[in-house]
Amino acid sequence: LPRADGIDLKAHIRSVPDFPKPGILFYDISTLLRDADAWQIAIARMTRALTPRRPELLAGIESRGFLLAAPLASRLGLGFTMIRKPGKLPGPTVGLDYELEYGSDRLEIQQDAVRPGQRVVVLDDLLATGGTMAAAISLLQQVGAEVVSAAVTIELNFLGGRDKLGVPVDALVSYD
Ligand code: AMP
Repeated sequence: LPRADGIDLKAHIRSVPDFPKPGILFYDISTLLRDADAWQIAIARMTRALTPRRPELLAGIESRGFLLAAPLASRLGLGFTMIRKPGKLPGPTVGLDYELEYGSDRLEIQQDAVRPGQRVVVLDDLLATGGTMAAAISLLQQVGAEVVSAAVTIELNFLGGRDKLGVPVDALVSYD
């Protein structure tokens, strides 16, 4: 672990106007990921936030959620399950279509992804309207998980996403 934890993670997140569409301010975590110290501290802080939730399994939302869930699972000594875009997971799956600001999308999970009642924390890079995270939580619940919290690197407070989720949210940085 790096010794100094005075790092301002926001300084490592780049905001890109009008990406991928006009009017959207995109928060790019590439700059955080490629800075060894900042990324290490982000993972350490997330580990501290998740530990009191007492997860038994982590779930990541494709694809930037995987980048968080995999190292966190490794640090916490837990397994990790994937919530993916359509058609990627073999075997029996459960899927859910959900509305986006413009259009719709779909996520899938394997039917046997969790044990009944297993305590799961679900991870993504960013919480905006909450539609993606709400869909992921619903899928986990459909396959038998007890979803104990959601965790993200970045939360956009002004979109009120957390009010849709019905589980507590841990965010490393937030924007008003
Ligand atoms: P939402 O379903 O509206 O909460 O959107 C969250 C998902 O879309 C996450 O998987 C993010 O990766 C992505 N996303 C939405 N808005 C942004 C943004 N402003 N910057 C970066 N990613 C975003």
